[in-house]
Order: sequence, then structure tokens, then C-alpha cells
Amino acid sequence: MTKLPRILWFRRDLRVEDNPLLSLEGEVLPIFIFDTAILSKLSPHDRRVTFIYHAVTTLKQKLKERGLNLAVFYGDPIEVFKHLLSQYAFDEVCASGDYDEYALARDRDVSHLLPFHALQDTYIFRPDEVLKSDGKPYLVFTPFYNRAKEVFRHAHMIEYQSVEQKLMNFAYDPLHRITSAGEATDSLSLEAIGFIPQLLTPHQQYSPDEKLARFRSKLADYPKNRDFMALEATSGLSTDLRFGTLSIRSLLRWLSEQKKSGVDTEPFFRQLIFREFYAMLLYHFPHLATKNFRYPFCGIENNEYFEAFCSARTGVPIVDAGVRELLESGEMHNRVRMICASFFTKNLLLPWQWGEAFFARHLMDYDASSNILSWQWSAGTGVDPQPYFRIFNPATQSEKFDKQKDYIHKHLPPDYTLPPIVDHKASSQKALEYFKNAQQ
Ligand SMILES: Cc1cc2nc3c(=O)[nH]c(=O)nc-3n(C[C@H](O)[C@H](O)[C@H](O)COP(=O)(O)OP(=O)(O)OC[C@H]3O[C@@H](n4cnc5c(N)ncnc54)[C@H](O)[C@@H]3O)c2cc1C
Repeated sequence: MTKLPRILWFRRDLRVEDNPLLSLEGEVLPIFIFDTAILSKLSPHDRRVTFIYHAVTTLKQKLKERGLNLAVFYGDPIEVFKHLLSQYAFDEVCASGDYDEYALARDRDVSHLLPFHALQDTYIFRPDEVLKSDGKPYLVFTPFYNRAKEVFRHAHMIEYQSVEQKLMNFAYDPLHRITSAGEATDSLSLEAIGFIPQLLTPHQQYSPDEKLARFRSKLADYPKNRDFMALEATSGLSTDLRFGTLSIRSLLRWLSEQKKSGVDTEPFFRQLIFREFYAMLLYHFPHLATKNFRYPFCGIENNEYFEAFCSARTGVPIVDAGVRELLESGEMHNRVRMICASFFTKNLLLPWQWGEAFFARHLMDYDASSNILSWQWSAGTGVDPQPYFRIFNPATQSEKFDKQKDYIHKHLPPDYTLPPIVDHKASSQKALEYFKNAQQ
């Protein structure tokens, strides 16, 4: 029987290196969809779309160098597949895992139109690979981490070799704009999908290989320095892991090379497992996207506080510096994210969902599982057993991790003098009471 072409759907794997999609033999139609359901919610100035656009055009170029190409669509994925199926026949669509609620529902809908061949790529482990002995998901990180280390095999970091593929005949040059009414073509540009090119920071413009090369000399001191926000001591790879411009397996192989040269890679590996833990949790408990796991306390709505936080006018220097960094670059250091999220949920007592949505709008590396579960962790509403006592003191944190105030001075204007909108001690006390009452 003659085999029909298969669709290779690139999503969170925007690269040619070590990509399972390119390891499947036969005739192929490689595609990328600028999904209108996602894009319609974003500002035309969204930096991530500039990043994705560059990643997509680079991918297209690299595929061309291999005798392949990339068909780029703009529309609702369901309409795109319906449109393709009205004109051609395919055996299947192949794509790698995307586990948030929207992605799972979208993939389910697509699978009703065409057999869906799910590949393992975005994460080290499948969502059901690191479970407790009773088959239930772990709720606490350390046992999950220990089990992950037991389950981890060389096979988790093998490199997918690309094979000879036959490119399906298709109009690859234009952007295909698909609606339920039909198709229109346009030239491929950011403007054609309604976005204004944004200036990315030098770091955001480095390739993953360049980022790894810069990080190599910092890896040994990662555990010692990673919390110091002015030191740039972390890898800065989260956006590449988010969009798959770097394969998680390549990163693991790189890490294993560093280990062979005597560096203790465990602390960095541990952080990668946090990403796995959060993805696993959101997969098994999709309601965590909006609902608390434990406590009934949901925060107190206060638009004045929320506005002050989002415009970096809380009067708490480390918090305002963090928010300014986020607004100006789409970046925020992990320790500062923790301080900001604690301040937001414990001192301002705002609903964590508001803070999560604010980060989701601006973070370059925004990833539903890491963001949602980190906010729930900070709010004390998540899966952790005894969390509500955890209230960061922003002043102490700042003194400890930014003693010389380098980070603060880098991000705050020189004439910055705002009185704090809440008193730390009094607001922490209030938070503890709310949490205690909510438990009873
Ligand atoms: C409130 C809050 C919101 C967050 N939102 C996101 C988000 O939307 N997307 C996101 O990728 N990370 C998020 N994080 C986790 C963490 O802040 C970022 O992954 C990290 O700052 C990225 O910088 P890096 O690549 O230099 O990290 P590195 O320290 O170099 O770590 C290497 C990689 O490990 C993973 N990682 C590290 N720390 C964590 C962590 N605590 N949780 C999950 N994964 C981790 C990331 O993929 C990261 O790229 C959030 C943390 C907090 C406290």
C-alpha cells in the first residue's frame, strides 16, 4: 500500500538538531501554525512573538539547507487542519508533547480529524514516567527528584538522528492565512500576523550554543552564585527550553560532558527536574491552572495594590526593580520572581492568579506549568505540605542577595524614592491570620 505523507507539526521544538520529527522516514509536510487563539490575546508589542518569528524563520532556513522546507500558517489549528484535509490526504500528524490544558484540548480536537502521533521531546520524562509506587503523582519535590534520578537512563538523552525525508509538493513561500471562510496568502512577516518587531536584549539574541558557551565557565559556581541577582550566574536558557530552540536531551548531553570534566552538575540538573515536576503536576491536576490545591483562601482583590505592583510603584526597591526588569526585557531573575510573588500574595494579599497572569503577559520564558506552580508555591496554596509560614522579607532578601544594590541600581531610576505601600511586619501578620483562619 502506498504511504501517504505525514504532517510534521513544529510547536515547542523549533530546531532541526536532535528533533524526533526529523527522524521519521517518508514523505512529509513540515508546518508551523501561528495560532490565532493564542496570538489574539497578546499585545502587538509582545517580545515573544519576535523571538518565535526569528526561531521559525531560522528553522525554515535550516530545513531548506536539508532539502526540506516549512509551510507557515496563521489561523486556528483546527481550521488549518480542516483546510489541509480538504485538499490532501495524510497518514498522520506528528508532534511532540505540550501538556497544558489548552494544548491538550487542541491536540484532542486535531486527533479527531487525523491520527495524532505524539512524540516525546519537550521534557525528559513522559508525565506518567515518574510516579509513586502506588501509581499516583508525587506532590512533594524531593521524593519526585529522588525517583527521577532512579528512573533516569542514558536513553533519556539519546540524540535523534535525522533521516532522508521526501518533501511534499506545497506552496512553501507565502504565509497561509486560514479562516473558516477559506485561505488567503500573504508574504511571511511579523507585520502580516499583526505584530511590531521588538528589540531583543543581546542575551535573547544569542543562539543556544552561544548561551551554553557563556555558561560553561559559570556552571561550577552555579550553586554558590545562582541566587545573586546581579551576577548573571544562571544559564539564561529557559526561553530556549520553552520554545525548543534547544533540545532538553542536548542540554543533558552537554551536562554529562561537563560532569566528565569534574564539575558537579547535580545542582543544575535539580533545577531541570523542577521543570519536569511542575509539568507533571499540571498534567495530572489541570485544575491547578486556576484553582488552589489546598487552602480555601483566595486573596483579597485590590486594584490599587495591583496597579502599584504592575507599574513598579510599591516602594519596595527589590520588588520594583524586578518588575521594571520584567517590563523592560521580559526577564526576571528567579530569586526576584520568588520575592515578588511572595510580596504580591503575602504582603499585598492579592489573588495569586492575578500575579500569574501578569507574569504570563510579560515573561519571555512564560511556561504555564512553571509559572502557575511557582505562583501557587509562593502563595502557599499549592501542593506543598506546610507552606503558609513562608513569607519572604524583601529587605532581608535584598540585603542577602544584592548587598551592593547592583541589581536595584541597574533597574531603578536614580531619583527613585517611594514610601512602601504596606508595612512588612503588619502585612505578614495579617497574611498569617488569613491563612490560619482559612484552614479552620
Ligand atoms: C513566580 C515564579 C514564576 C516563574 N515562571 C516561570 C516561567 O513562566 N517559565 C519558566 O521557565 N520558569 C519560570 N520560573 C522558574 C525560574 O524562575 C526560571 O526557570 C529561571 O529564572 C530561568 O532562568 P535560567 O534559564 O537562567 O535558569 P537556570 O537557573 O539556569 O536553570 C536552568 C533551567 O532549569 C529550569 N528551572 C530553573 N529553576 C526552575 C524553577 N524554579 N522552576 C521550574 N524550572 C526551573 C528552567 O528551565 C531553567 O532554564 C518561575 C519562578 C517563579 C518563582
